[in-house]
Amino acid sequence: MSRPAVAEIKLDNIRANFQLAGSLAPNGKTIAVVKANAYGHGAAEVAEYLSGDVEVFAVACIEEALALRASGLRHPILLLEGFFEAAELDVISREGFWTAIHSQEQIDALARSSIPNPLPAWLKVDTGMHRLGFSPEQAAKAYGELSRMRQVKAVTVMTHLANADNCETQGVTVAHQVARLPSDLLKPEIELSLANSAGILAHKVARKHWQRPGIMLYGASPLARENQFSEALLPVMTLKSSVIATRWVAPGEGVGYGGRFVAERPTKVGTVAMGYADGYPRQAVEGTPILVNGKRTRLIGRVSMDMLTVDLTDIPEAGSGSGVELWGENLLANEVASHCDTIAYHLFTGVTQRVPRKYVG
Ligand SMILES: *Cc1c(COP(=O)(O)O)cnc(C)c1O
Repeated sequence: MSRPAVAEIKLDNIRANFQLAGSLAPNGKTIAVVKANAYGHGAAEVAEYLSGDVEVFAVACIEEALALRASGLRHPILLLEGFFEAAELDVISREGFWTAIHSQEQIDALARSSIPNPLPAWLKVDTGMHRLGFSPEQAAKAYGELSRMRQVKAVTVMTHLANADNCETQGVTVAHQVARLPSDLLKPEIELSLANSAGILAHKVARKHWQRPGIMLYGASPLARENQFSEALLPVMTLKSSVIATRWVAPGEGVGYGGRFVAERPTKVGTVAMGYADGYPRQAVEGTPILVNGKRTRLIGRVSMDMLTVDLTDIPEAGSGSGVELWGENLLANEVASHCDTIAYHLFTGVTQRVPRKYVG
């Protein structure tokens, strides 16, 4: 016997979601973003599974890229945050990594380096996210410097979208961001990469030479308002566990730390082996949906480190050993996230090492 908490990963569904991304931008190429341990799904396993479908993978940083090399992946790997110190450049060049370039310091470091092989550089332009990248005014000069450098093989222009998930935004829209790209960089021979998952799913103008889907590969939609494409995504991770104990509590009794839940009627409480140390969010409010034996019920009481409690009063057949789905195939992570003041990205990346990943497909 072992603790029943497990994250089941349906690899077939990742492939279907990747193919959907590709089909929405058939004239471009689709990178698979596997940063943050493939959004909690296991970067080595996901990358290996997709290795025949995907030409280029993307991660945040060199440590993540080296871990993929160590797992045997030979593909080009794009570093979305670029490099943090010049000492990384030799490794980047030797390992066939591609790097984002978002600052003049990085350009200067590259120019001073004596790397063995020229590398593809992805010039990041800040068109409104205001986090990383060259301003539209500086971008053409940076492009020129990079493209003349012997250390650089090719320059792709990339920007990141701030509001592609939300069409009713008050802030900068996708159209604004596209319009801020400097015209000098909009020549047909310059390759562009604008779209994350939300851009791919909802914004035709963002689909260019290279798409960078992350969350959609894992089957969660980033869109505030779903569309026909987001509704076609297949969930990949199902976070499961079991009921390990039950008891009846009388009206007026509290359940769990602080007694946040107080029974209003005789209540059958099920205790589930799943807690915040597994990555189930402690922010989950009373009533957060949970499936037991495939039936919808609700979280009652605070989530604790190793356990949480559910209402089994109306599921009479449920008892110790009954299967529990916290999110996944039958309960979308987005719905759970909306009860936890967060997003599916956070739920997936938050699943801790204590939870074994079980791969199917
Ligand atoms: C994480 C990331 C992506 C993927 O974003 P999703 O919303 O998960 O599709 C794309 N581009 C960059 C630069 C990123 O950092």
